[in-house]
Amino acid sequence: MSETQVVAIIGWGTAGVNAAIALRAAGYAGVIRAFSDTDVPPYSPILTSYYVGGEKTYDECFPWSADELAELDVEVVSGSRVCLLNPARRLIRTEAGEEYTYTKCIVCVGARPTTVGFPAGCGYEPLVLRTMDDAARMKEAFNSSACERALVSGASMIALKCVEAALNCGINVSMVGMNDHVLDFSALPEAAARFERGLAAKGVGMRFGQTISQVEVLEGEPRKLRVTFSGGDVEEFDEIVVAHGVRSDFGFIAEGSVEIDRAIVVDDFMRTSASDVYAAGDAAQALDLVSSEKRVLGIWKTAALQGQCAGRAIAAELAGGEPEATDAYPGAIMTNTIAVNGTLFISAGASQAAEGQRVEVRETEDMTVACIYEPESDGSERLIGFNVASDTDEPGGAAYDTGAMLSLRIEEACRK
Ligand SMILES: Cc1cc2nc3c(=O)[nH]c(=O)nc-3n(C[C@H](O)[C@H](O)[C@H](O)COP(=O)(O)OP(=O)(O)OC[C@H]3O[C@@H](n4cnc5c(N)ncnc54)[C@H](O)[C@@H]3O)c2cc1C
Repeated sequence: MSETQVVAIIGWGTAGVNAAIALRAAGYAGVIRAFSDTDVPPYSPILTSYYVGGEKTYDECFPWSADELAELDVEVVSGSRVCLLNPARRLIRTEAGEEYTYTKCIVCVGARPTTVGFPAGCGYEPLVLRTMDDAARMKEAFNSSACERALVSGASMIALKCVEAALNCGINVSMVGMNDHVLDFSALPEAAARFERGLAAKGVGMRFGQTISQVEVLEGEPRKLRVTFSGGDVEEFDEIVVAHGVRSDFGFIAEGSVEIDRAIVVDDFMRTSASDVYAAGDAAQALDLVSSEKRVLGIWKTAALQGQCAGRAIAAELAGGEPEATDAYPGAIMTNTIAVNGTLFISAGASQAAEGQRVEVRETEDMTVACIYEPESDGSERLIGFNVASDTDEPGGAAYDTGAMLSLRIEEACRK
């Protein structure tokens, strides 16, 4: 093995760290250089809302200890974004103006919240949630004595996590969503409606089928935000959170050098269309077992598995071989679990029924279970997705058991 081998990892989050872990576990002893646009160690975006709401400390948001990271022997170029990846020249440039070459490169840049749809230029920068900086800003805002009422725009999982954080800070919180229910594209209407009943019981205000059409900043002590909704209502809030989805920023990749669809398209070993460039995590579009299509699943476990897959494949190739077929990315199914102050939602697989698919809904005293079935050619049906909405969030309780059992059935059916 040449001493000049360098594996560059752009983005030092879970996909990046897991790629480094897999490289070292597979015996790669060359240089690993990770590029991070932040000065903090790799953190878990999942835990940011719990930090805001006071359920986790700042330090608890960092899954890897300093010793564990040091053991990986990774040279981290931090505090500066990568602004150019040029696969033709194997070149990486940072915003600080430094240039680096590589032997293999993995793009693990995750995704950033978008504020598209929020009235830009209104004089107020809405709160968003992804990074530790975002979380620190939200925590400060929610803990200010001037913050009594917050509006969350969006109805996704991340929006709901922000609602929970606001409730835990003792804030009166409302949501506005452009679709008919919470959980936008992740829930069937029956399960979403049950979840909404739980939110209403906790005092969460909800407006659906509407958006924010105008925000006026009312200067004063304290300053207020007068919001006009698309339905015509006008209300005042102290802070606004925007959770309108996420997007990866691939502007740093030399134009046309890597195939990008919704994210970077990868093969079974996370290889992109550019030689020696790999992608993993929220930045990659890989196999979704339910649809058999390449999709971004946007979940932690998938990012970790994809990072590991890329790391193993690179280690094999740099050792002069080929990755083992058994190390190929096996695909994944979308899963979601969210609890807002005791109201629980669990889902996996397909979240909407397409034409020809059947939805079955079962309501019990404390739970709604909605399942989506797809007809098979032999006349049977296979389960391809489910939602469980429960009025109680009891670890190890019936809702979690049902969720685990149904997830397993979907995965088994997909892998047949
Ligand atoms: C509030 C919230 C709650 C969530 N809850 C859940 C949950 O309950 N369960 C679940 O499975 N998933 C959840 N997720 C999603 C999960 O956090 C992500 O799927 C996972 O973090 C993706 O890992 P990643 O390594 O691809 O990206 P990230 O963790 O985002 O890491 C990418 C890193 O790259 C950096 N970067 C970006 N561009 C550049 C550049 N040009 N140069 C250098 N560095 C760059 C970013 O700043 C970041 O540090 C949640 C996400 C959020 C925001």
